[in-house]
Amino acid sequence: SAPVITVDGPSGAGKGTVCARLAQELNWQLLDSGALYRITGLASERKGLALGDSMNEQDEAAVADVAANLDVRFEPTPLGVKVILEGDDVTDQIRTEEVGSLASQVAALPAVREALLQRQRDFQTLPGVIADGRDMGTVVFPQAQVKVFLTASAEERGQRRYKQLTEKGFNASLPALIEDIRARDERDSNRAVAPLKPADDATMIDSTSMTIEEVCQQVMQLVKN
Ligand code: C5P
Repeated sequence: SAPVITVDGPSGAGKGTVCARLAQELNWQLLDSGALYRITGLASERKGLALGDSMNEQDEAAVADVAANLDVRFEPTPLGVKVILEGDDVTDQIRTEEVGSLASQVAALPAVREALLQRQRDFQTLPGVIADGRDMGTVVFPQAQVKVFLTASAEERGQRRYKQLTEKGFNASLPALIEDIRARDERDSNRAVAPLKPADDATMIDSTSMTIEEVCQQVMQLVKN
């Protein structure tokens, strides 16, 4: 079957940029699993479904149903992948902190993770796939040939997110972003299902004081070995 590179780690560690570059360089499929959780969060909110701590079993089933039946298309363009939800271009909207928080809430639901599992595995096609996420090496592709766990300090990740958001014209507060990142790390690491943790056979890369190019080179070295 097609080879798999998994890149897991907390938000803002550089996974998205690194995976997009490697996918382009190798001409492999890119699986942005976070986008699937973001789209599920956004689609659930649009349907007026209850999210958050007060959810009951029926609410969870309703969100899982949304995840299982997502009407989403990923359209490659020269400027990157466009995300189309029910005919609506949501590429920029799903990148907001608000949708990131919705994503993190739906991602804590076992039924949602189950509903998205096969859709993620379907990305494994020749010549290969680069999978970006939190549980790519532990749950979705445990047999992957190359597994990376990419980290960076919370301050550095906050600064990178701040730059990303302000460049796109969004308002942002750096202290609030760092706080947000810490809260999300906490929730992602401590949840019962698929907590954020490196696979036993993952290579750890700390990108705090590395450039994107350096991280890409290090991963390519692992691919060649
Ligand atoms: O990577 P990204 O910031 O787009 O992910 C958004 C949220 O989706 C994460 O904070 C995490 O809660 C969830 N997620 C996940 N498993 C993945 C990818 C993302 O739980 N494989």
